[in-house]
Amino acid sequence: MAPLIPKCTDCGACCAHSDEFVPVRYEDSMRLPQELLVCATHAGKWDTVQMPPYVMRMVGREKRCIALRGEIGEGVSCDVYRNRPKVCRALKRGSMECCYMLGVHRVGRPW
Ligand code: SF4
Ligand code: SF4
Repeated sequence: MAPLIPKCTDCGACCAHSDEFVPVRYEDSMRLPQELLVCATHAGKWDTVQMPPYVMRMVGREKRCIALRGEIGEGVSCDVYRNRPKVCRALKRGSMECCYMLGVHRVGRPW
């Protein structure tokens, strides 16, 4: 039976969250490959007051982060794991957001 909350390397659900972008702070941007970043003002729809300076795009049919590799729910890795943005570090495995994304992608069995 699938574990209640899978290991993150067997999951990746939170790296594929709809058509939003991954917000990238200026401090994050200094550590990330420039080719993965898009200037937020070019990305549209973000509130200009709260908008971070850069974003990383969601790409493909699954709308997944451009840095995600592998198959969601099977085996994944992050191309920039050591330098991933703060927002990625803040999301805790087993948190409400995590469980919500597991449900969206039907990974594990948190419901
Ligand atoms: S949704 Fe949860 S279990 Fe899956 S990769 Fe994200 S934090 Fe890890
Ligand atoms: S940068 Fe890495 S951890 Fe953050 S959303 Fe993209 S693939 Fe996931």
